[in-house]
Amino acid sequence: MPSTEELLYVDNVFIVVAVLITAMISVVGMVISRLYNTLNESLNQLSEEHEENLRQEQEKIRIKRQLTNNINHELKTPICSILGYLEMINGNENLDINTTRTFVKKSYDQAERLRQLLMDLSTITRIEEAADMVECESVDLSRLIEDVVDDTIPQAQQNNIDVRSVVDDGVVISGNHTLLYSIFRNLVDNAVAYSGGRQVTIQLVRSDYTYHYFKVEDNGIGVDEKHLPYIFERFYRVDKGRSRKMGGTGLGLSIVKNAVLFHGGQIVAQTSRSGGLEFLFSLRKGDVI
Ligand code: ADP
Repeated sequence: MPSTEELLYVDNVFIVVAVLITAMISVVGMVISRLYNTLNESLNQLSEEHEENLRQEQEKIRIKRQLTNNINHELKTPICSILGYLEMINGNENLDINTTRTFVKKSYDQAERLRQLLMDLSTITRIEEAADMVECESVDLSRLIEDVVDDTIPQAQQNNIDVRSVVDDGVVISGNHTLLYSIFRNLVDNAVAYSGGRQVTIQLVRSDYTYHYFKVEDNGIGVDEKHLPYIFERFYRVDKGRSRKMGGTGLGLSIVKNAVLFHGGQIVAQTSRSGGLEFLFSLRKGDVI
């Protein structure tokens, strides 16, 4: 027969073991519940990421579809015009020579527009989809900007607008000459074509260790603030009729933006102090070769 002391001892051991087991169970419970929460959080995060990826994918598809529709529309317009003029020439034997010439000239203009459109589209595709194949070299921006000023003089004189560069000699970066030319040429061409102003100025505002900061500004009519957020979108035109009449493809500023991004920079459009339009953009200096 165990003594009372022995019984008490067994009782105590039993209580201690029971307390230990309870403590262990509650610790294991806490660990499991924590694991469960972490797992749940991870699953929620994964599903949110999945939804976000899906949303981004759908947005990409939507933009691509919209772009394809826009491209189709833009290509159809000149092709239909050319066909229309040729049909009129073909189907009308008694057409006088002057009218025939006018129709041929109009067909030629539309064919030229088509060529420009295809060139612009190929530039954008090249930057967006084959950026690694775009070659970079040492580019003298001071000279390139002088060339842009010279090349735009005939059209500028016709529109009674003065194009001026305020860029010192010796501004050199590593980049792609064709794309860099496109940036300055498109901005100046647009100011000459649309601004109705008297002055376009290309200015090197400042430079730091990494970037050069440029401003291309005109003193024309500018663009209504409500259009400014969309002005770099493909095929966005402020005045559709006027843009088409001027031979615009609606891709000029989209090329400018893509070319600036390709050169590691940023671009914004805003109303200038004179009420015209100004573009501020940066170009990364890069490792000058
Ligand atoms: P487009 O090929 O029609 O010229 P862009 O993308 O180059 O297309 O320009 C988009 C629109 O922005 C133009 O259709 C024009 O209405 C407007 N725009 C661009 N630059 C200027 C400017 N300097 N002054 C006024 N309007 C401008």
